[in-house]
Amino acid sequence: MLRSPDLSGALEAHGRPAVTDAVRTVFSSLRRTIAADPKAASAETGDAAIAQRVIAVLEALSKPSLVPVFNLTGTVLHTNLGRAPLPAAAIEAMVQAASACNLEYDLETGKRGDRDSHLEPLLKRLTGAEAATVVNNNAAAVLLVLNTLAQGREVLVSRGELIEIGGAFRIPDIMARAGCTLREVGTTNRTHLSDFADNIGENTALIMKVHASNYAIEGFTTAPEEAELAVLAHENGVPFVNDLGSGALADLSNYGLPHEPMPAEVLADGADLVTFSGDKLLGGPQAGLIVGQADLIAKVRKNPMKRAMRLDKVTIAALEATLQLYTDPARLAERLPTIGLLSRPTADIAAVAERMCPVVATKLEAVATVEIITCRSQIGSGSLPVDRLDSAALSIRPRQQGRGEGRILTQITEAFRNLPSPVIGRVQDGALVFDLRCLADEAAFASQLNQLDLR
Ligand SMILES: *Cc1c(COP(=O)(O)O)cnc(C)c1O
Repeated sequence: MLRSPDLSGALEAHGRPAVTDAVRTVFSSLRRTIAADPKAASAETGDAAIAQRVIAVLEALSKPSLVPVFNLTGTVLHTNLGRAPLPAAAIEAMVQAASACNLEYDLETGKRGDRDSHLEPLLKRLTGAEAATVVNNNAAAVLLVLNTLAQGREVLVSRGELIEIGGAFRIPDIMARAGCTLREVGTTNRTHLSDFADNIGENTALIMKVHASNYAIEGFTTAPEEAELAVLAHENGVPFVNDLGSGALADLSNYGLPHEPMPAEVLADGADLVTFSGDKLLGGPQAGLIVGQADLIAKVRKNPMKRAMRLDKVTIAALEATLQLYTDPARLAERLPTIGLLSRPTADIAAVAERMCPVVATKLEAVATVEIITCRSQIGSGSLPVDRLDSAALSIRPRQQGRGEGRILTQITEAFRNLPSPVIGRVQDGALVFDLRCLADEAAFASQLNQLDLR
């Protein structure tokens, strides 16, 4: 088969080892087919037929696994879809940094430098912190802070804040792995300052506040003011650490969004260290940011675990470029996709729906009806869990109602998912719903609809 002219193009494109492997794969599958049904032999064993299968195997293997998708789920920061779409400036910076770069090299002195130096000045400027460091994600930031400051000792946390967020990040488990003992105080709905005061002792390493990212406790609730907790911690000579989860580097109310606590605010309220994510509301790459007191940051940096969690040059480049955008808040919505999408005017989204509805309806003519509906987008990634943003969507409903309706809906959903740039929506009340808040490139969306495979 390797000498077959039918495979010369494949050899050129994929190289001999890959083609050989693919031929073997096809041969063994053929052997199984023929063993089960000897009559299949003549139809499938011609060179051309085999070559065709070999090429199909090679193409399937060389297709990238990670591909861009259209996130029309209505959840803007969708963890399964890669959270924040990066700003153009960050993408450009990633490409630049991909070559040799001054990652740990001081261009002034010609000596060894520090990779935090690319981010620390910006983070200090944006949060008012004395110092800052960065790791792979916020889960790592929390683990590292706890391990550095509280290994072998107790950490006080309110019972109302023992959160689990997606992907098995649970505060009690992280505490255990960090080597500290969780000391729960108060109750699920009400925790008072005195609950912390009564539990603080010899073995207390720190007081921790965890932002209830993905849920809200409503009704008969109380929690101590952060400023009071900070005072209590400091009176007892221990740090007060605040895991903000998402955190926002800009005041979101300036963009018509609900206010989300800012690292600068919680530092001003007395937090000694604050941890937050790079790819939630901040809108950058996956990263965990730690800002606060210089002496504590210095300890965190010295922890050998920090080395195991350090950021690579490409992520540092993306984060630096993203942070840089925050120095000009007036143009943030225009430049940072996360803020742009979250603050996108409803009328703008409705106009997208008006343009896209007939296009999609024509393609699905035979199987489904398409109508414009109003809907509400979520922010996602545990940010502002109860707030919803007015939006517009396409609702795609199988023409056939009753029997077979569900199967057709599944087929339509799969057909969109199988496009070169898969389109991901959500199924709701018997319809496939595409929330158009995050549709930016309408031409790219429309042009691939010709390839919809609706058997
Ligand atoms: C999201 C979140 C984390 C984990 O952050 P990642 O960047 O996803 O690792 C930790 N704590 C809180 C409160 C969060 O909301």
